[in-house]
Amino acid sequence: MDARGVSAPREQGGEASDPYAVARRRMVEEQLRERGIRDERVLAAMDDVPRHVFVDPAFVQRAYGDHALPTAEGQTISQPWIVARMLELLEVGPDDRVLEIGTGSGYQTALVARLAANVFSVERVPSLLRAAQQRLTDLGVKNVALRHGDGTLGWQEYAPYARVLVSAAAPRVPEALRAQLAEGGVLVIPVGGPKLQHLEVWRRLPGDRWRHERRGECRFVPLLGHDAWREMPEGSA
Ligand code: SAH
Repeated sequence: MDARGVSAPREQGGEASDPYAVARRRMVEEQLRERGIRDERVLAAMDDVPRHVFVDPAFVQRAYGDHALPTAEGQTISQPWIVARMLELLEVGPDDRVLEIGTGSGYQTALVARLAANVFSVERVPSLLRAAQQRLTDLGVKNVALRHGDGTLGWQEYAPYARVLVSAAAPRVPEALRAQLAEGGVLVIPVGGPKLQHLEVWRRLPGDRWRHERRGECRFVPLLGHDAWREMPEGSA
């Protein structure tokens, strides 16, 4: 077993052992590849990680649909396309250490774990964190460390990170996340108001210079914390 985690089904005997393998393959082809996702490593990871394990049992039949789904505590597991898009923009390499803010269900964490050397993921809701930890353990994903806390402060202990991924909507890029990004690193974050954000890609260049670009609109649940919204903003997702 590989520390990056296994989607047991394929390795244990093909699609017959995973009733969702066909739906997952279709998700990859129709929702992702046909709609512009090009990064083969990302596509392979999306084909590999069993999304149905990460959704609420009530929604398992819809796990591979083209939409976000509600999870516990009023949070969401993002639409597959936006998850793939963020991962593509992040340009994760196999030797990278990645900081993720907003573990949620742990689905995106499992994907990053397949693409990177190590993932450090912070979640503010303890019950979500516990459930995510259990799923990742059950899937045999070993290169992930999870922590309960305010992700707007990052995770200083393991900084700097080659990549930082924020999967909640932020009013601005939190200072600590910039500080914990390595030179040459990339940070992907939805920035904007509570109802609508732009997916922003920030690159840290030598000499603490920064370049950033906006790559399309998105709608995430709010990032709540010290260097973001202090309380749930009106009209949020
Ligand atoms: N990527 C996740 C979806 C995340 S939804 C998945 O694949 O399931 C956004 C998550 O960010 C929620 O779980 C929410 O509780 C969390 N969150 C919001 N503010 C946070 C903060 N300051 N620190 C850490 N997590 C936060």
